Amino acid sequence: MSVETKNVTISIEKAKISKIDQVDFDNLKFGSVYTDHMLVCDYRNGAWQAPKIMPYQSIALDPSAKVFHYGQAIFEGMKAYKDDKGDIFLFRPLENQKRLNISAKRLAIPELPEDIFMEGLTTLLQLDSDFIPTQEGSSLYIRPFMFASGNGFHASPADEYKFIIACAPSGSYFSGKVKVLIEQTYSRSANGGVGFAKAGGNYAGQFYPTQLAIEKGYNQVIWTDDTEHEFIEEAGAMNIFVRINDTLITGPTSDRILDGITRKSILEIAKDHNIPTEVRKITVTEVVNAAKDGSLKEMFGAGTAAVISPIAAFGYKGTDYDLPELENSYATKLKKLITDIQYNKSEDKYGWRYKVNI
Ligand SMILES: *Cc1c(COP(=O)(O)O)cnc(C)c1O
Repeated sequence: MSVETKNVTISIEKAKISKIDQVDFDNLKFGSVYTDHMLVCDYRNGAWQAPKIMPYQSIALDPSAKVFHYGQAIFEGMKAYKDDKGDIFLFRPLENQKRLNISAKRLAIPELPEDIFMEGLTTLLQLDSDFIPTQEGSSLYIRPFMFASGNGFHASPADEYKFIIACAPSGSYFSGKVKVLIEQTYSRSANGGVGFAKAGGNYAGQFYPTQLAIEKGYNQVIWTDDTEHEFIEEAGAMNIFVRINDTLITGPTSDRILDGITRKSILEIAKDHNIPTEVRKITVTEVVNAAKDGSLKEMFGAGTAAVISPIAAFGYKGTDYDLPELENSYATKLKKLITDIQYNKSEDKYGWRYKVNI
C-alpha cells in the first residue's frame, strides 16, 4: 500500500500485530517504548528517495558505515499532543524541520526537503495515533534523526544517509527540582564548533562531565563558555533561564548555545504576560552575587522534553547555593502557559499549534 500526500508518495507496510496492548499508559517512562511503525527515507545516488513507513524494527548497517567512525549524525526532538476530544497537535513543527537542516548543513549531511519531513511525519502519526497518550503531562515523543549509512574508513562525508522518524509514548521527562553544578573544567561547545547543531557527538561529550557531577551529588551540569567558564550558557541539554529580582534573563544564541524552540516561545509568552525579559550574556559572578544577596529568585532549564525544569540549588567552586521556594514562580506560570497551548487548552494567538488531520 502507499499514500500520495500533496507532494510525496509514501509506501506503507503495516505492522501485522500491534504492540499497543503491551504499553502501560499509566506508567510511561520517557522514550523507552516505541510505536508500531517508523518512517525511513534513504539518500542515495545524490537524492533523497521516496520515504517508506514500515514496522518498527532494527536496521542493518555495514561496520564501515561512517556514522560509527565519524559521528556524522544529527537529531531532533518534538512531541505530539492529544486533547480531550482526541485531536492531535504538534508544536511549531516547521521550526524542527528548519533546525534539522541547519544541523545537517554543519555536519555536511544533505538537507532534507520540507515535504518529506512534514508529510512523512503526519502520515506516521496518523498510523500510530492510538499511541499518543492522554494522561496529564504525557505525550508522544518524536525523534527524527539522520545519519551517515554510507561505507568507508576514509574520513570524509558519506555518500549515503538515512532519515528516520521513531516515536515513543512518554510520561513527563522528570519530576522534581534538580541540583546543578556550574562547570569549571569541561565544555559542551566552542566558538566555530557544532554546539548550535543537534549533533549526536555533542551529547556524548556531555556524558562524562555529567557523570562526574552526579558522583559529587548533583543531577546536572550548567555549561559555561569554553574560554573563561564565566558565562552561563546551557543547563544540560536545555537552554537556561535565570530570574534576578523580577527580570527573566537568558543568554543569546550563538555557535555555543542552541536555538531552542521552547526558549524562544517562553521569551514571547513572558513578554506578553508583562514579565520583563533580557537576552544577554549572564556571568557566573552575577549569579553567585545574586544568590548571596537574595536577588536570585529562580533558575530553570527549558527544552521540549522537560518543557521547564526548575533548579533547586547550584554548586560553584565547592559551595552550594540554594534557591528560594517561590509562591508565584515564573517556571510554574510559564510552564502552564506553554503546555496549555501545546495541549489545546488555551487560545493560541501565535499560530504555534499545528493540527494533524486523522
Ligand atoms: C534540543 C536542545 C535544546 C532545546 O531545544 P528545544 O527546541 O526547546 O527542544 C537546548 N539545548 C540543547 C543543547 C539542545 O540539544
